[in-house]
Amino acid sequence: MATSVLTPNGHSSTNGTALAMAAPAEQPGLHVFSLAGRVALITGGGTGIGLEIARCMVAVGATVIITGRRESVLQESVVDLGEGAHYLVNDVSDLGGTDALIEQIEAEYGPLDILVNNAGINMKKPALEVTDEDFSRIIHTNLNAVFALTRAAARRMVPRGSGTIIMISSMAAYYGIDRVVAYAASKSAVEGMVKVLASEFSKDGVRVNAIAPGFIETEMSRTAMNSDPDRRDRAMRRTPMGKFGKPSDIGHAAVFLASEAARYVTGVSLPVDGGNSIGF
Ligand code: NDP
Repeated sequence: MATSVLTPNGHSSTNGTALAMAAPAEQPGLHVFSLAGRVALITGGGTGIGLEIARCMVAVGATVIITGRRESVLQESVVDLGEGAHYLVNDVSDLGGTDALIEQIEAEYGPLDILVNNAGINMKKPALEVTDEDFSRIIHTNLNAVFALTRAAARRMVPRGSGTIIMISSMAAYYGIDRVVAYAASKSAVEGMVKVLASEFSKDGVRVNAIAPGFIETEMSRTAMNSDPDRRDRAMRRTPMGKFGKPSDIGHAAVFLASEAARYVTGVSLPVDGGNSIGF
């Protein structure tokens, strides 16, 4: 006769079989957020959001490699970040260099565990004035380069059966922000890519997610907002928390998504936006 028992997790089972098979109880605690021993590549990690993602990851033990086009900026940032931070000069729009970049990182620092596709560019122009060259330039950096680097990293992560990839998306993928047609198109496409790649890679232990920052105070947003006070007011009006975010707000979210704490999270885009995406 079947008997009902309670497993250590509080789930009921029959005949005690689940009790016998139950996984050992886990100790909850901050250790699940640790990135000790992990190697992380953060594109565009010398400034703004990327720099704070790097700082947050270094703080929890990761070896972090930041990239960008300006060596002086990267040099300064690595000194600022301290032990655990390194840089490589790399232009993500040079798609032919993606395999070599990952190869060099793995040769110098060991298997790449975490890729953060953070580098991005924006341009504010009415859609009717956007040239084909403008449009292609934004799409190339924010989309084509993201795919090329992700593919290069995933070709190593998937056979190893582990890794995590984080895209930095934007509110521009969720609703119509005027004068950023190419940027919005690139970020919307990245959101689609996250779902497909998560669907293809997750069974092999590689999780793919995005963070969709709201309005975060960085050089990029300052340039867009300072010249356009009306835009700044509109952004604030629909942000329930009533303030802009800090780059470290994105850094903490990236640590979560990269860590064991998020081991059952894949294919999502996490808004970190003070409620901007649900504001009226
Ligand atoms: P920043 O302009 O401060 O940082 C962009 C970084 O990307 C720079 O370090 C830059 O370095 C690097 N970069 C740009 N082009 C290339 C390239 N071709 N190759 C390598 N690196 C490159 O902007 P943010 O920190 O604000 O933006 C970071 C990400 O966050 C972007 O993807 C952006 O779209 C996204 N985001 C930002 C929001 C905000 O409010 N700030 C809101 C939503 C999304 P260098 O010029 O030296 O190459």
